[in-house]
Amino acid sequence: MIEQAKQALQSYFGYSSFRPGQESIIENILEGNDTLAIMPTGGGKSLCYQIPALIFDGVTIVISPLISLMKDQVDTLLGVGIAATYINSSISLQEIQERLQDARLGRYKIIYIAPERLESSQFRSLLSSIPISMIAVDEAHCISQWGHDFRPSYRNIQYMIAELPKKPVVAALTATATVEVKDDICSQLQITPSAVFITGFARENLTFNILKGENKRDFVKSFLKENNNQSGIVYAATRREVNELHSFLEKEGHSVGKYHAGLSDEERKRAQEDFLFDTVNVMIATNAFGMGIDKSNVRFVIHYNLPKNIEAYYQEAGRAGRDGEKSDCYLLFASQDIQLQKFLIEQSTMDEGKKEQEYHKLQQMIDYCHTEKCLQTYILEYFGENESPECGRCFNCTDNREKIDVTTEALMVFSCIKRMKERFGKTLVAQVLKGSRNKKILELGFTTLSTYGLLMQYSEKQIVGLIDYLAAEGYVKLTNSQYPVLILDAKALPVLKGEVKIYKKEQVTKKQIVTDNTLFEILREVRKEISTRDQVPPYIVFSDSTLREMSEVAPTDEKELLEIKGVAKTKLERYGEDFLSVIRKYVEEKNAVVK
Ligand code: ADP
Repeated sequence: MIEQAKQALQSYFGYSSFRPGQESIIENILEGNDTLAIMPTGGGKSLCYQIPALIFDGVTIVISPLISLMKDQVDTLLGVGIAATYINSSISLQEIQERLQDARLGRYKIIYIAPERLESSQFRSLLSSIPISMIAVDEAHCISQWGHDFRPSYRNIQYMIAELPKKPVVAALTATATVEVKDDICSQLQITPSAVFITGFARENLTFNILKGENKRDFVKSFLKENNNQSGIVYAATRREVNELHSFLEKEGHSVGKYHAGLSDEERKRAQEDFLFDTVNVMIATNAFGMGIDKSNVRFVIHYNLPKNIEAYYQEAGRAGRDGEKSDCYLLFASQDIQLQKFLIEQSTMDEGKKEQEYHKLQQMIDYCHTEKCLQTYILEYFGENESPECGRCFNCTDNREKIDVTTEALMVFSCIKRMKERFGKTLVAQVLKGSRNKKILELGFTTLSTYGLLMQYSEKQIVGLIDYLAAEGYVKLTNSQYPVLILDAKALPVLKGEVKIYKKEQVTKKQIVTDNTLFEILREVRKEISTRDQVPPYIVFSDSTLREMSEVAPTDEKELLEIKGVAKTKLERYGEDFLSVIRKYVEEKNAVVK
């Protein structure tokens, strides 16, 4: 059956080989096993259920959390000639009945539904009247209350499955890999451990960067200027910050949209469409924007503020480069941002245990900003993937500055923490080492400590920077609370014993992400025209990677065009001539110049 799957991959989607993990997941599903696929964003989860859906006899129901995502997915499928539709609150009751009737008549292979539908037992019994061979649970982490997007309606999936006359195959898919979430999905959907597929979380085409001490506005302004025309997302922490940054960039003449929960449904919908259709290049948004954004040609994601944890960060940053093309992720770190995240935890209704857990995750996020090891590796280790090689691309991997021995300074920090009885935060420790005479230090009598003033040749900021680094590398630890206390960690012991030395580097800046390519730009224009003409988002016409390959190969006939990854029969019929004619013209003009 896997041969049939490969054929479908080629004939419908125009891809000649599976991405890592896809083949074994599809094979397992085709064998009729309930399956959980954990793959990074952009890893190609959709094909893992779409291909089996084509091969199975009956209908596949896909449960998906966001309406916008559904429409997008259905458009993509229709775009490659697969009969699909969706059922959610955006269509009338009568349309729902009609679509179900069409489903009974075998007119669809794939139907997307919102989980909220399943709350109605009437709707669930309607589902029983159509031949369902598979249930695909997209964004399956929504089923778990440990996940970051818990959706109570997802809990109804198990009841729906139990009510169906014939047990369908269940395929659950997510990009969230924490152990709790995984276990929760498996127990609720009764998936056995042998049917859990976790593909590597590394994103080979993404470059992670952390910038500290930048003027953030100036950075974004000049970055957008240097990367004019590229599609990207800038995430800011609050609505106010989004509004301010948006109007600033708009005044500067950049093509920007904005999105946050304070805007009306209508405004949000328009902003999203403008972005999907490349009418605006850059979206300035809070984290309300994104889930369900399937746009594949996002070339960069900038985090203007510190995200709350690594899961959220990797998911948001991971929206860059879903098409597999090189893309960049920047995190603009400023220590003030930590306060906002702490405030959000404090204000929440979580119980103390959960708050502590959130503080811990926040600290791991902060440590990410201060580590000097490979950023991709740091993230992968967070998700439990050990021994992954360094990416060789990220800010830290490409930072060639020499490392300085800071063992002596680190020992002074350790000693100071001990002498302050591991009861104070990093600012106070830094002030004692600096030899500050502020009121609190005088009151607490810290001027008499033997470590007082030991690092007076450094600025307080530099000392805090060193402490942050020591925390990121695990020599010292900040407790999980609103006012974390600095304590020594076991890793400090061998340093104290003189067995291990500690090395550290200092900071730098930014770069341009892509070089220009004339034919590529022309093809993008053609795609934009088709997008307007046919009312489909540009990346559904062809992805950036397909256009890039087209611009490199410059196919001039249908046969050559079919060789390009992402071009299959349906798209060839629909758009082939549009692209071929401009490529031929381009090639002719170029040859004329050469002669
Ligand atoms: P996600 O895992 O985030 O849901 P998608 O299913 O949206 O990822 O896939 C991301 C992109 O990768 C899409 O543009 C899709 O067409 C492309 N893709 C998926 N599988 C393959 C493959 N085997 N070869 C080439 N491109 C692929």
